[in-house]
Amino acid sequence: MKAAVLEAFRTPMKIHNNWPDPKCGPEDAIIKVAANGICRSDCHVCDGDWEWIGLQPELPAVIGHEFCGIVEEVGANVKNYKVGDRVICPFIFGCGNCSFCHAGQQNVCLNADLAGFGCSGGYGEYALVARADLNLVELPESIGFVEAASMGCRFMTSFHGIVDQAKVGAGDWVAIHGCGGIGLAATQIATALGANVIAVDINDKNLEIARKMGAVHTVNASNGDAPEQVVALTGGGAHISVDALGIAVTCMNSLMSLRSRGRHLQIGLTTQAEKGFVSLPVDIMVARELEFIGTIGMQPRRFPAMLNMVESGKLTPGEMVTSVIPVDQAADVIESMHGFGNVGTTVVEW
Ligand SMILES: [Zn+2]
Ligand SMILES: [Zn+2]
Repeated sequence: MKAAVLEAFRTPMKIHNNWPDPKCGPEDAIIKVAANGICRSDCHVCDGDWEWIGLQPELPAVIGHEFCGIVEEVGANVKNYKVGDRVICPFIFGCGNCSFCHAGQQNVCLNADLAGFGCSGGYGEYALVARADLNLVELPESIGFVEAASMGCRFMTSFHGIVDQAKVGAGDWVAIHGCGGIGLAATQIATALGANVIAVDINDKNLEIARKMGAVHTVNASNGDAPEQVVALTGGGAHISVDALGIAVTCMNSLMSLRSRGRHLQIGLTTQAEKGFVSLPVDIMVARELEFIGTIGMQPRRFPAMLNMVESGKLTPGEMVTSVIPVDQAADVIESMHGFGNVGTTVVEW
């Protein structure tokens, strides 16, 4: 198959035209990839980040964890999917046997496989989804592939974080720090729930898109006073504040944007600079009874709630897509993410 292959960390992926196809196990499915979103996580994976939480693929690897497509092949034991089905592939493949999978929380499975880590991912023409019956989600006919790509990672992660974890409600003030794919999705989802969103970023173009996604205020964080501005705009601080980037500054800004009893939602994993550790204002968190909430992915059984809102037009993941490119250009886009200068999101269309 054709694939963009990561041969070594900190080098751009290279195009191969005869890369081996992934092999389908009896419980698995092979997906003909239709679209794969380019995620900031790809930039981290290409750099070899996240070994501190055991998230480094063995090289060479076909990465790409934000994809959807058409079922090309199913293993002998797969019952719920057949060749030709349109599917979303949420990037965490649960094992089906641990206590969390039994409770329907495959997103925190103890033995999960991850798309693009060990399994061939969405920068290849064909990708593997382990244990298809448990881990695939049917994609409704009315939703296009380019729009659906982000629902396998950023959009579902934001939905689960905002709806299930932070429990955002009508009338809440929600500050969102970082307006890349995750932040823009979170902006639209919180807005759809009836919250007032304040979008925070250092790039005015991203803030402009955030306004289109529903933000009622925007704050340019370049001056270093983002928390003060959020506190002023909300008359005392946000009810919920989101670090949608995963660097020490946005994490701290998010916590300091909260009112007493506020909830901080951490969506992004950290970078080489933090290696998973960020200093927190613990005394302030104690004195104000602040909560710190993590979130990762979303289990397949929660997809109908999100897909209902997409089909009815309340959520429009396609609106965040600012460019659609062939796989040959993906490596350049990932390289450009080092500068934080990207606007909107890019999707590879196969
Ligand atoms: Zn991602
Ligand atoms: Zn499991």
